Amino acid sequence: MQLPVYLDYAATTPVDPLVAKRMSECLSLGGVFANPASRSHIYGWQAEQEVETARRHVADLLSCDPREIVWTSGATEADNLAIKGAAEFYSNRGRHIVTSCIEHKAVLDSCRHLESRGFDVSYLRPDADGLISAEQLNRAIRSDTILVSLMHVNNEIGSAHDLHSLGAVTRDRGVLFHVDAAQSVGKLPIDLSATNIDLMSLSAHKVYGPKGVGALFVRREPRVDLVAQMHGGGHERGMRSGTLPTHQLVGMGEAFRLVGELIGEETARLTELRSLFLDSLAALPGWQLHGHKTQCVPGIMNVGFSGVDGESLLMSLRQLAVSSGSACMSATLEPSYVLRGIGVSDEFAQSALRVSIGRFTTRADIETAVIAIINNVRQLRKLTAVF
Ligand SMILES: *Cc1c(COP(=O)(O)O)cnc(C)c1O
Repeated sequence: MQLPVYLDYAATTPVDPLVAKRMSECLSLGGVFANPASRSHIYGWQAEQEVETARRHVADLLSCDPREIVWTSGATEADNLAIKGAAEFYSNRGRHIVTSCIEHKAVLDSCRHLESRGFDVSYLRPDADGLISAEQLNRAIRSDTILVSLMHVNNEIGSAHDLHSLGAVTRDRGVLFHVDAAQSVGKLPIDLSATNIDLMSLSAHKVYGPKGVGALFVRREPRVDLVAQMHGGGHERGMRSGTLPTHQLVGMGEAFRLVGELIGEETARLTELRSLFLDSLAALPGWQLHGHKTQCVPGIMNVGFSGVDGESLLMSLRQLAVSSGSACMSATLEPSYVLRGIGVSDEFAQSALRVSIGRFTTRADIETAVIAIINNVRQLRKLTAVF
């Protein structure tokens, strides 16, 4: 059986072979397997050294201090720690939080949880491109606002926020700024030394690292405090207890180091493949691209079609591994809340495909995808045409 072409890089990426190799060196007896917290022998010291090298790689990519990186099990945990941890710590200053209605579920559900604990959350509605403007954010901040949480790049439509202008507003108004950067790391430059961001969620598996590991950037200057959400041995300066998984962290470090080297050429190559996809699809009438056309990452293309049933389309595209809406929502058949949130009509939202490309996508993959999509949309339209 011919496997489908993998075009779901926004859901997860394959681990880069160089990353997998480094990880495999940190598992068994001959490798760096020990507990990084073991202070009494060389096995532990070696593991700690590997973990700290990985921390430096992550910090280097973002231009921050390694001491500002707190390891977590992924961006979901980082979002939880940032939002619940900050809300709890600063609740004596105020109990209002600002976010948007198209955030990742890890952010939205953390906010919902806080609402049940007496916090007040404003869910801003983005513009038709999926973006919140600095003026809109400024209007939403109140005297009792303590935290703003907005994603850098949206995982379904790829639109990218201007973090400089948003960060200028939060710093000016004296509120914390949390950014979920799971989809932007390694795709857009991030400079935390020059941007007013207080907390940033990171994930390894969206950038060719392993699943089940991530980090939260927690700014030291000006200092940000959090209430820990995981209690135990006091690892990670008390912010996140749990034995550090050396192989996972080495994998994340190597993935971040690698993408730092490759970001320039990778962006150029993916931008070309994006143009090839969108230009080739122009042969078909009745479709639209969701998300900002230029202020975006090149790897995510969300397209909706008129006059086509979404489920039939997805079923007919068996030679392509793509997502309808977001992978996290694919257990339910509702049109994506993100597409609804930016005002996409039901017709285009229910038929939307998220085609996401990455490091191992070829021109041939794109050509296969375009031919399959054009042929199947035409076929389905013929079948459903009302005469
Ligand atoms: C994938 C993703 C997450 C969740 O990250 P995990 O590491 O899988 O927990 C959070 N936010 C965004 C924007 C994502 O794309």
